[in-house]
Amino acid sequence: MEIFLYNYDEAKEKIGTNGGGFAAMNGRQLFFTWYGKSIFNTVRNREEYVGVHEMVHVITLNKLGPITTRFFGEGYSNALDGNYGSILENNRMIRLRNDSTLAKIKAKSRLLKPSELLYNDSIPERAYYPQIGCLVSWLFDTYGVGKINQLYAVKRKKIEEKFLQVTGDSFAEMERKYMEYRMK
Ligand SMILES: [Zn+2]
Repeated sequence: MEIFLYNYDEAKEKIGTNGGGFAAMNGRQLFFTWYGKSIFNTVRNREEYVGVHEMVHVITLNKLGPITTRFFGEGYSNALDGNYGSILENNRMIRLRNDSTLAKIKAKSRLLKPSELLYNDSIPERAYYPQIGCLVSWLFDTYGVGKINQLYAVKRKKIEEKFLQVTGDSFAEMERKYMEYRMK
């Protein structure tokens, strides 16, 4: 695998983002913005220079197949990373945890249902990434990674049908359970 690091001031021009990085669809190349300063990750309790998000894309591309939906494609990366974005606090960069962001979203009554996360393509990244990360993490805990892996490469229009086959719950039943869990 090849890993490309771009300086912060050239990343936007060269790879189109200076907000982190991306994994090539061939699953063999990773492109990252190099900040030169570490960011503290409270989930892993360590300083990091690059997050695990793009690494997860590379692994899922090689092991589970191409990204067919944003729901699972970004869901896996955000679930395993556990963070989206970062803030400057007392002169130190801290990664923002998905669970903390979700609590704020919930307090503003902006929590999205699984069906919205599956079918609405216009949800901005800052709202989508933390929420899909929390949902997919809950799906792993509730149904087991082995079952959810079988849904990873399924096309969007087949997901509801396949979800029932694989888990024994309809997508709507899963949604009811998830929203009940989040509202507690
Ligand atoms: Zn991603």
